[in-house]
Amino acid sequence: MSDKQAPIFILGGGAWGLSTALHLSRAGHTNITVFERAETIPSPYSAAYDLNKIVRPEYEDSFYTGLALEAIEAWKTPLFGPYFHQTGYIVATTGAAPPKAIHHLQAALETIQANPMFKSKITPLTGKKEFQDFAWQFSGPLNGFQGYFNRLAGYAHSSNALHGIWLHLAANGVKFILGDRAGKVEELLYDSSSPSANRQCVGVRTADGKFHRSKTTICALGAHAASLIPSLGRFAVARCWSVAHVQLTASEVDLLRGLPTTNVRDLGFFFEPDPETRLFKLCPLGAGYTNTQESGLSIPPADRLPPPQDFIPVADERKLRKLLQEVFPWMADRPFVDQKLCWFADTIDSDFCIDFVPDTQKSLVVLSGDSGHGFKMMPTFGSWVVRLLESGEQTEARWRWKDIDTRSLDWDTAVSWRIGGTRELKDLIADKKRQEQARL
Ligand SMILES: Cc1cc2nc3c(=O)[nH]c(=O)nc-3n(C[C@H](O)[C@H](O)[C@H](O)COP(=O)(O)OP(=O)(O)OC[C@H]3O[C@@H](n4cnc5c(N)ncnc54)[C@H](O)[C@@H]3O)c2cc1C
Repeated sequence: MSDKQAPIFILGGGAWGLSTALHLSRAGHTNITVFERAETIPSPYSAAYDLNKIVRPEYEDSFYTGLALEAIEAWKTPLFGPYFHQTGYIVATTGAAPPKAIHHLQAALETIQANPMFKSKITPLTGKKEFQDFAWQFSGPLNGFQGYFNRLAGYAHSSNALHGIWLHLAANGVKFILGDRAGKVEELLYDSSSPSANRQCVGVRTADGKFHRSKTTICALGAHAASLIPSLGRFAVARCWSVAHVQLTASEVDLLRGLPTTNVRDLGFFFEPDPETRLFKLCPLGAGYTNTQESGLSIPPADRLPPPQDFIPVADERKLRKLLQEVFPWMADRPFVDQKLCWFADTIDSDFCIDFVPDTQKSLVVLSGDSGHGFKMMPTFGSWVVRLLESGEQTEARWRWKDIDTRSLDWDTAVSWRIGGTRELKDLIADKKRQEQARL
């Protein structure tokens, strides 16, 4: 794109939308508008509306290892540094872990062991004593725990990062149109009404009925994108995971200060507690849940709250209680507060989609398929979008638009890093109602 004054719209002010605005602005673009349906950023509809996200470089695919290492360097710069906590990262399996979890841990470990950047940064761990060398607070039995400690990784405070980058962009000339009427995009506008034509996207209609015209529109709606681009939903599927928290006291927060980010691959992961809210976040990281509509597309429910999204399924609660019994037995019977289901856009190969939407004359770009591992790339992600716009084509095959329908394939086997099977949100809600009635 040579005309840097031409209007560019970014739909969605989440992790990738903001990163894209940042890098376009750094590349000299002066007419950027972000549309965001929330009244303020971070948006409760963003997958990154959260205390923390793991920032780790280990992947089975060394391509992403390289990108994550670059992102970690960028997390250490003045703009992103305040949100990055290089606590180190413990990855483990329990003695009861299924072979899939053990295999994934080994495969991811091999990619980093092969990389000279990790020399002297990785320590294999076996048994309670070795784990306690890196996390003395682990007081549970740690039955059969095996794994490693990676000094390079940690976490980022995701809500604070979104908020901080939003303020930075707004102060640097990026326009924001926010709110459930003015900022919520309901329709993409084209120069032809026929979806089969090679038509140009010329702007958007927002929920307040206004039409806005653009030269280039970049759709960064996370799990919600298929509501505007239905053909995307054939290979980027809205899926959610459970998140729960334990409310700690001030001295418990102090006790767990500096705790390495810990991922027990067959049970779930947790972080050092957030000092401001005193919340200790846990996530079971199973195969996730979909919300398939009559159209055959999985789309998150229209509104995040009130219910049915403020709960976690019983099976996930059991996993998290088991995790606490193994690691912090003193916390294992505490109530779980601020339970929620959190939505992301999933692809069967966990590859991102960063490409022009076909047959739109390169007027419409989609950023999707974060697959639940895209937050860590926030500091660098937008540079890949700038590259796409400047070169006019996606040269990285992994990130191209896919003309395939993966919805009926066997995701449970295909996605190597997830344990368990997927279910539909409506079945989880029915289970929950049955359990509540049984308790009456
Ligand atoms: C439970 C969970 C745990 C995760 N853990 C990690 C992790 O440990 N490490 C990691 O790297 N990644 C993790 N992720 C993934 C990470 O959160 C996502 O990759 C990242 O947030 C994707 O950014 P995005 O901009 O594509 O989408 P989002 O951040 O979801 O942003 C989409 C934005 O679009 C807005 N929007 C939606 N519809 C409209 C509309 N019609 N009009 C205007 N705006 C709209 C939303 O309000 C939102 O702000 C996790 C995800 C989940 C769900």
